[in-house]
Amino acid sequence: MTTKFIFVTGGVVSSLGKGLTSAAIGLLLENRGLSIRMQKIDPYLNVDPGTMSPFQHGEVYVTDDGAETDLDLGHYERFTSSPLDQMSNFTTGRIYQSVIEKERRGDYLGKTVQVIPHITDAIKSSIEEISAPDVDVVIAELGGTVGDIEGLPFLEAIRQFGLEKGPGNILFIHLTLLPYLRASGEVKSKPTQHSVGKLREIGIQPHVIICRTEVPLEAEIRNKISMFCNVAKTHVIEEKDVDFSIYEVPIVLSDQGLDQIIIDNLKLPASPKDLSEWQGMIDKVKTLSQTVEIAVVGKYIELHDAYKSIYEALTHAGIANHCSIQLRKIRAREFEENGSEHLLDGVDGLLVPGGFGERGIEGMISAVRQARETKIPFFGICLGMQIATIEVARNVLGFAGAHSTEFNETTEHPVISLLAEQEQIQDMGGTMRLGSYPCRLKEGSHAHRAYKQTSIHERHRHRYEFNNRYRSDFEANGLIPTGIHPDRDLVEIVEFQDHPWFVAVQYHPEFKSKPLQPHPLFRDFVSAASQRSPERQASHSA
Ligand code: GLN
Repeated sequence: MTTKFIFVTGGVVSSLGKGLTSAAIGLLLENRGLSIRMQKIDPYLNVDPGTMSPFQHGEVYVTDDGAETDLDLGHYERFTSSPLDQMSNFTTGRIYQSVIEKERRGDYLGKTVQVIPHITDAIKSSIEEISAPDVDVVIAELGGTVGDIEGLPFLEAIRQFGLEKGPGNILFIHLTLLPYLRASGEVKSKPTQHSVGKLREIGIQPHVIICRTEVPLEAEIRNKISMFCNVAKTHVIEEKDVDFSIYEVPIVLSDQGLDQIIIDNLKLPASPKDLSEWQGMIDKVKTLSQTVEIAVVGKYIELHDAYKSIYEALTHAGIANHCSIQLRKIRAREFEENGSEHLLDGVDGLLVPGGFGERGIEGMISAVRQARETKIPFFGICLGMQIATIEVARNVLGFAGAHSTEFNETTEHPVISLLAEQEQIQDMGGTMRLGSYPCRLKEGSHAHRAYKQTSIHERHRHRYEFNNRYRSDFEANGLIPTGIHPDRDLVEIVEFQDHPWFVAVQYHPEFKSKPLQPHPLFRDFVSAASQRSPERQASHSA
């Protein structure tokens, strides 16, 4: 069978949850026995989000093959089993880069190079590239909002794509917002009419409209959208704000028959649906008994999206441990101010996530010290692992001023440093240790107990490394390297044995956690934290 294509566009406002909705559609189609591929198209000029500030863009999601991608790919991976790689996310920057390189090589044989057809052709071939004989459906999500100038070449490209593939091979889904006016108690459809009007001007008639709304869709408003937007009433789908969890979205969409609509329109050979396992997970979310409070101390704490996968992985670990996670997000810099010794009072666990640059580093070091000394379960991730190493070097090994050369190039004790081969690199884009690497675990360690195997693969995104010159000093003082890159002898995990749970990893485990398969380290971290919480309550009442 030839691959069919679904394009998901957004209207009215950004941040509507297009990524989540696309991922939910992916889940529903996989559940019907179809093989899918997900793709995110970003109409900005950066070649990839790898060089963008998390404050601008949120987290950079990393794939096994080392692509630095948009965080929506995290949703795709949490909801589906579609493989993701370098081709799963592309930007205007990447398209222009390839077209200009071709132009310089003379590949256009003297022609004038133009947005139409050269840019639009390059866009179409980047979409086509992820189709394959064994792929039933490609779901491509277009970033931004209809009406954005920078999105125009992409809409033109997908219009042409639809024309070339012909009816029955392509489905346009438009996600839109229905604002609710509290004063008059009304839901408004006009912005949606305008947004669909804009799409139709370009030549795209959506087949399905998904309406984000706070309140249920009344028949009257559904009829209005159907008539003005030229979409069948049954194809106007409500996506109301969910009460408990984002993981309810596929169920909400499937209850209105969205999977069947797609299957019928694209004439897909589907099997019956069975969402019982997914539903079981949601039922569990609704009945979580205990609350575990986890402090997250980082640099980009104000922006939830900057640590998106970490928060999701904590939620998954909570479900596995029957507890809901309460986050205490603390800006690292607050640990540099007076009174910071009380910032962790009452928390059950501390997590220090990844990051770049010097701001807040001393604060993170103080936070880790408190967790180590007062035996609060601690989980360090990437920069968090480097911070733990620096803290132990300074305060246990007695190496005053120990540091990472990222923050102090002339430190006397560079316990975190660059590998020799990285020292010459000048470019910032795509030059870190990126993607999946193997790691061998030490038997009997916390890590080994969690993974229940000695050979694992995890994804990396960093420049600096644990400095092996200091390995024996750390070991002699109880901070044990328990995960090692087998060929290059790089320390990927360190942990304390005489602490309830103190594990720090150089990689990003959060990228591989899914609601039905929580990551083993997150699961055990939250388990250690949950054990601390009743203990503490008992000691308080004694
Ligand atoms: N800044 C550190 C490095 O480059 C850590 C990176 C990270 O946390 N992702 O090594």
